Amino acid sequence: MGYEDLKNIKGNIINIQHYSYQDGPGVRTTVFVKGCSLKCKWCSNPESINPEREIAFDPKDCIGIKECGRCLKAPFPDGVFNENEETGKAKIDWNRKKEISSELASLCPCKAIFTYGREVSVEEVIKEVDQDISFYSVNNGGITVSGGEPLLQPDFVAALLQTARVHGYSTAIETALKVPWENAKKVLEYTDILIHDIKMINSEEHKKWVGVSNEKILENIKKAYETFPQKKVIVRTPVIPGANDKEEVIEEIINFILPYKNIIKYELLPYHRLGLGKYEVLGREYELSDISSLGDKRIKELREFVSQRFENARK
Ligand code: SF4
Ligand code: SF4
Repeated sequence: MGYEDLKNIKGNIINIQHYSYQDGPGVRTTVFVKGCSLKCKWCSNPESINPEREIAFDPKDCIGIKECGRCLKAPFPDGVFNENEETGKAKIDWNRKKEISSELASLCPCKAIFTYGREVSVEEVIKEVDQDISFYSVNNGGITVSGGEPLLQPDFVAALLQTARVHGYSTAIETALKVPWENAKKVLEYTDILIHDIKMINSEEHKKWVGVSNEKILENIKKAYETFPQKKVIVRTPVIPGANDKEEVIEEIINFILPYKNIIKYELLPYHRLGLGKYEVLGREYELSDISSLGDKRIKELREFVSQRFENARK
């Protein structure tokens, strides 16, 4: 496929984040794609799970029914929005959210009704990535595609990374690898740094917390290491209280990755609740509202454990 054809391939994204230090080496521009094959109970990007463009509603931004009231009238479907008598603002019947087409969001003058997700071409994304070119020379920065699950849109992401390489940028993906192997292979061809997580090795526990078993994920991870032995890999584990915050669970993960020499780093990411507000504006329930935070002391202990068992073993 020619360069011109690559630039026209389209994908669905949530947003493009500039100057990120979290998504690989150096300063990076991170493209968050829409659609995920997992449903982690702790997900801080719930707006990225559904592959379709999605309606959200934040009543805090509504100016009031008396002042506006547009969402109570046609073309909005009758009764999906009503007046909240306590606040005088709009309220939504979340059970009927699917009746609101995404075009209707533009009729709300205050953006209290808005959408997550937009279709973009490779060319549009690259133009935005080009704006950050002066930062990429620092510590091998570049473009990272995250999500959601980048490997659910393999044609778009492969074309994006291939084009980014033509522009001279380092390329990275953040993936959970719950995809057909062919998807992964297609994108990994154009990826310099593979960042993937492993939540836990026990498949039953994985299913309980993430919604799916992990045999396919572990199989893909091994295939990725073996098919692309020169590729740099960063492995991450989000540490969730009650799910995987035990040395035994971390040790199983270390035992799985230890033989593979292309892993340049294994990181623990502490649980946080930064995505909580997004559950509210999407009308979704946050299932982990009862669990407490991990605490600095505990994450320090677990990181020390990783240092002893993983980093020392690699010296
Ligand atoms: S893999 Fe990431 S984006 Fe997908 S559900 Fe889990 S935390 Fe959310
Ligand atoms: S259209 Fe928007 S600002 Fe107007 S009442 Fe509805 S939610 Fe409020």
